[in-house]
Amino acid sequence: MNDIAVEARNAVKTFGQGDHAVRALDDVSVTIRKGEFFTLLGPSGCGKTTLLRLIAGFEMPTGGQILLDGADITDLPPNKRPVNTVFQSYALFPHLTVAENVGFGLEMLNRPKAEVRQTTERMLALVKLEALAGRKTSQLSGGQQQRVALARALAPQPKVLLLDEPLSALDLKLRKEMQTELKRLQHETGITFIFVTHDQEEALTMSDRIGVMSAGKIQQIGSPRDIYTRPVNRFVASFIGESNFLPATIVQGAARLGSGHSLAVEGLTPVDEGRKVTLAVRPEQVRLTAEDEADTIRATVRDLVYFGTDTHCHLMLSDGEEVVARLQSPASGDAGLSEGQIVGLRLAPGAVQVLGD
Ligand code: ATP
Repeated sequence: MNDIAVEARNAVKTFGQGDHAVRALDDVSVTIRKGEFFTLLGPSGCGKTTLLRLIAGFEMPTGGQILLDGADITDLPPNKRPVNTVFQSYALFPHLTVAENVGFGLEMLNRPKAEVRQTTERMLALVKLEALAGRKTSQLSGGQQQRVALARALAPQPKVLLLDEPLSALDLKLRKEMQTELKRLQHETGITFIFVTHDQEEALTMSDRIGVMSAGKIQQIGSPRDIYTRPVNRFVASFIGESNFLPATIVQGAARLGSGHSLAVEGLTPVDEGRKVTLAVRPEQVRLTAEDEADTIRATVRDLVYFGTDTHCHLMLSDGEEVVARLQSPASGDAGLSEGQIVGLRLAPGAVQVLGD
């Protein structure tokens, strides 16, 4: 059985011409599985919205194909695609009631009146807005408007729902609530969600898989855990979470730092011998011990910054490289460290990632 809902195959999109041309998508290939919560994550201008608009049919690709359920839909107009979009601005009709907004798409499809009414009721129950069915959408809070927009987009039972930064207009508390709500809706409906955000925490907490984008290209696709623990390059390691970067050389199957210490790393092959690489290490994977313990790297404490639940300890290695360790703050007192102190630094097994370019 084909379990792929949407596929972009070598999608290219350029805007403008000649010297002013912008390559918004640069040969993007991605497959999104049926029933998946898939997030496109990346900084402003990386091409997330453009990819979403190609899937919706609002833009034509300059090159490549868009497939849905295995069929090429590249030339199909938006209204012929079983795809719906929730926009950042909600785009509700202010002069219509909540129920009329939700039923609007079905009316457009000329569905029978009874079906429109029943589906509208079901959708309003799904987003818990039954009590507000008769209210004009201009009289709703931001969170309520967001729910109407979701109900309206889900009503025609699209195969795929595209969500373009749908939570960015909400305050933090409401945003957290709606994140949970969206996950619930996706589970209950089983519809494939393609969600766009530039917020890494939102992507990590909500997604089955994430496609990380930068400069019109997909940098990495994987589960939140894969992306966080095994970033493939420096961009991904620094865009999602924080990371230390250390230059090293591969010597006898291990990564040798400038300070002379060797670190065990995974996934090397004989051709890597002698290669200069960059290592990525998450700050929470750095442990501190006494300086004279075996197998530790000597480091000097440069600075301690208190962040509540944790304290960031800035360290310097003997070759001048800097490393940040994120240490859990003790319940009371300080971390027992002071500036200028010499400590031993140890990295958890599997903590060191060798990055590509
Ligand atoms: P944001 O998070 O800010 O919405 P994004 O990752 O969604 O950003 P896109 O909106 O896809 O990025 O834009 C990708 C690039 O294409 C940007 O450089 C943008 O300026 C450019 N672009 C997008 N739409 C057009 C257009 N209609 N005409 C010209 N350039 C465009």
